[in-house]
Amino acid sequence: MSLISAEKEILAVNGGTSVRKTLLPYGRQAIDECDIQAVVDVLRSDWLTTGPKVREFEEAFAEWVGSKYAISFSSGTAALHGAAFAAGLKAGDEAITSPLTFAATANCILYQGATPVFADVSRDTLNIDPAECARRITPRTKAILPVDYAGHPADLKAISELADSQDLIVIEDACHALGAEYRGRKVGSISHMTVFSFHPVKHLTTGEGGMVTTDNPQFAETLRRFRNHGISSEARDRQSTGQWYYEMTLLGFNYRLTDIACALGTQQLQKLESNLERRREIAARYNAEFANMSGVLTPQVLDGIRPAWHLYPLRLQLERLSAGREEIFRALRAENIGVNVHYIPVHLHPYYRDRFGYGEGAFPVAEKAYERLISLPMFHGMRDEDVEDVVRAVKKVIKAFCF
Ligand SMILES: *Cc1c(COP(=O)(O)O)cnc(C)c1O
Repeated sequence: MSLISAEKEILAVNGGTSVRKTLLPYGRQAIDECDIQAVVDVLRSDWLTTGPKVREFEEAFAEWVGSKYAISFSSGTAALHGAAFAAGLKAGDEAITSPLTFAATANCILYQGATPVFADVSRDTLNIDPAECARRITPRTKAILPVDYAGHPADLKAISELADSQDLIVIEDACHALGAEYRGRKVGSISHMTVFSFHPVKHLTTGEGGMVTTDNPQFAETLRRFRNHGISSEARDRQSTGQWYYEMTLLGFNYRLTDIACALGTQQLQKLESNLERRREIAARYNAEFANMSGVLTPQVLDGIRPAWHLYPLRLQLERLSAGREEIFRALRAENIGVNVHYIPVHLHPYYRDRFGYGEGAFPVAEKAYERLISLPMFHGMRDEDVEDVVRAVKKVIKAFCF
């Protein structure tokens, strides 16, 4: 036996002892007694939905990110739909987005009857490449939807300059990036509209929930109507002013977020800063362990950026490994590390292939990244022992496959 293989531990996938006894998820919520109490208080109050807690959460959120308005929605996906509507997307229009995202980013364009046009990502951050965006602009293009992948803001300066020069609306999908900073500004205060999600794996949770931030009063008003059937005033305002009359002015949906959820959101917001700090600590620990390790590449952070670290996407150096992503993924899972993959490029999903005729090779940078990506567990409730388990498991598995 060679010295190298003698050092290798037996992987759990081959019958060895797993690094952990129980599965560590890649993300999860943290709920404390204040959160629980806030929800209970709402349950005992007069308003379960569209009451005072909604406004309270929206105002606190807008202040936190530094936007004029924040409009809550029942999910991040509903918020994206609202933003696509407010941007005026309709049949015949095109909107440009990243293929390396959750399907909802592109789906919201389809909800409006418009056509999603993908532009490949940059090799460094895996965010949409502004030069690729520029190449995809046609007379039909109405909007650009950059995604702040993993919590690292997209090249927002280049994108907003491009959008301004072509009269396009920027809808930033910041579902990964609550709390991220771009050249000293918080994400949520930069693009025409910015969309957030409050799913339990995100930085702040309301169970399900979402938000759009904007400085534009017209967008804000349209978004408020859109989430409430297109109706011009809310039930509570009518009750307080003693009026019964209302008008439906556009075809909206019921995308309202409840007071129960908003009370939870306001409480969660108070812990956001410390949660972000914890995520940055975990990322720093991973970086310190993996940056100089053969077989993997750590996420790049560009100058002037403070990422929010929704994900920690490790990239495999396949040319130095004797196994592919699948095998390494399974080996890490067997060690009870709940790794994940973000994302299957949207254009490769059967729906997009069938409807638009996409195939492999259409967006080579995103596709090549996809074959190499593994998201390590990253959430603010991780204990130091959990982080060390991930470090040990990654080293164990990568060492086993590294030349
Ligand atoms: C989570 C997420 C969404 C959708 O959010 P939901 O609240 O689950 O509807 C959209 N885009 C991206 C990039 C996301 O990560």
